[in-house]
Amino acid sequence: MMSEEICVQLKTLQGEIIYVQSHSNETLLDLINKINIQEDINSLYLTINDNIFSLEDSSYKTLSEMQIDQYSLIVLSKSQLCGTVPFTMNPFLMNPFNFNSLDTKIKLEFSKGNCKWRIVGEGISFIGICNSNLCEAYTQHAYFTLGFGEFDIRSTLQNKVVCPLCKKNMISVENFGFYMAQWKIKGTTAEGKEVKIIDKASERGYYTTFKEGSSAQWQRIKVIVEQLDKPEFVVKKSKALD
Ligand SMILES: [Zn+2]
Repeated sequence: MMSEEICVQLKTLQGEIIYVQSHSNETLLDLINKINIQEDINSLYLTINDNIFSLEDSSYKTLSEMQIDQYSLIVLSKSQLCGTVPFTMNPFLMNPFNFNSLDTKIKLEFSKGNCKWRIVGEGISFIGICNSNLCEAYTQHAYFTLGFGEFDIRSTLQNKVVCPLCKKNMISVENFGFYMAQWKIKGTTAEGKEVKIIDKASERGYYTTFKEGSSAQWQRIKVIVEQLDKPEFVVKKSKALD
């Protein structure tokens, strides 16, 4: 990709507007390193085109990925240590992504077929469509098992979910399912609604997933998936923030 030289307008923590000579293929971290900042850069937030990003989360994004051009003004700010942040000012606000609305759980019985791209293992698996026209699973719904662990769904979708046959990134990955596992889901929709689900799938013949066709816009979804023999997740009665 061509790298363009751009002059970025930046408003410093002191409220001064400065101009920084940069290239569109440089990262936000490269840009911030060009100016003299005393603060811990992980505590900084950048407002770019009215959206706020934490530098810690976005430091390796390039200026072109962040759609920064010579007309953009980047405003630096520091994290707020306490107090509630109005939703539109939420420093964690990123572009929402599409994923199942997670409101209708379904159980599917395993079929006798032996379709190679529809095999699931224990733990969490993701459902998408293979988009590689040389692959046997091209245009088919395929399942990719990631097993157990902690998953940030936004980055998992971007980096880890591939077709089980050709290992190329799948498209339309908007649902997941579980087999012989227990899980805890914590999500925030684009409107700021919190969703918490604790559940398990312990029947050998069934796959637990969510009804296709109802999708939602999400800010973030975190999922912890553990083996059934681990201590059970507990549903907390209190509404404490964690
Ligand atoms: Zn494939």
